[in-house]
Amino acid sequence: MKTVFIEDQKEIDEIINSCDLCHLGVIDIEGRPYVVPMNFGYLDGYIYLHGANFGKLIDSLKNNPDACITFCTDTVLAYQNVEVACSYRVKGKSIVARGTIEFINDYDKKVDALNSLMAQFTDRKFTYNSPAVKNVEIYRMKLDDFTAKEFGKYNEQTFPWMKRHGR
Ligand SMILES: Cc1cc2nc3c(=O)[nH]c(=O)nc-3n(C[C@H](O)[C@H](O)[C@H](O)COP(=O)(O)OP(=O)(O)OC[C@H]3O[C@@H](n4cnc5c(N)ncnc54)[C@H](O)[C@@H]3O)c2cc1C
Repeated sequence: MKTVFIEDQKEIDEIINSCDLCHLGVIDIEGRPYVVPMNFGYLDGYIYLHGANFGKLIDSLKNNPDACITFCTDTVLAYQNVEVACSYRVKGKSIVARGTIEFINDYDKKVDALNSLMAQFTDRKFTYNSPAVKNVEIYRMKLDDFTAKEFGKYNEQTFPWMKRHGR
C-alpha cells in the first residue's frame, strides 16, 4: 500500500465535509504546542471555529495567531496477512493546514459562521439569540496552505493478491 498526495479540490472538500471534528494546534503563552479537538464549519475556503471567549486556547491565539488544523476521515483497517503485524495498515485520508487565525466580530458574519458549523451536522436551519452571538468567540483560518494525503491506497505492485481478492 502507498501514500499519495491529493490535489483534487473536490476530494479535499469531501475529506473536510466528512469530518465532525478537527484538531487545532496552537502555541500556548509559554511557547509550547497545544492541540485540542474542535468542531468546525467550512465556508468559502475558510475553516470557522467557535467557543468560549476565555481560557487557555483563546489566550494562546490572542498571543500568537499561528495555527495548524488537521482533519482525518474515518479509518479502515487493512492487512496482507492477518498473522503478520507489519502487514497491517490503517487506510484513511487526512489534511494538515497551517495559517493565521483571524477573529470575527461582525454580528452577521458570526451568524454565517455558526450556520456553517451547524451545516457540518444537519440541514436544519437555526436562529440564534443576540446575547449568544455576541458572547461566543468566532474565529477562522483560511485554507490556502495545506497538504492532503491518502494513506494505505491500494497498490497492485506491492500487494498483487489484493486485486485477486478485490480488496
Ligand atoms: C468532540 C469535541 C468537540 C469539541 N468542540 C469544541 C468547539 O467547537 N469549540 C470549543 O471551544 N471547544 C470544543 N471542544 C473542547 C476543546 O477541545 C477545548 O477543551 C476547549 O476549547 C477549551 O480549551 P481551553 O484551552 O480554553 O480550556 P481550558 O479550560 O483553559 O484548559 C485548561 C486545561 O484543560 C486541559 N484541556 C483543555 N481542553 C482539553 C481537552 N479537549 N481534552 C483534555 N484536556 C483538555 C488542558 O490541559 C488545559 O491546560 C471540543 C471537545 C471535544 C472532545
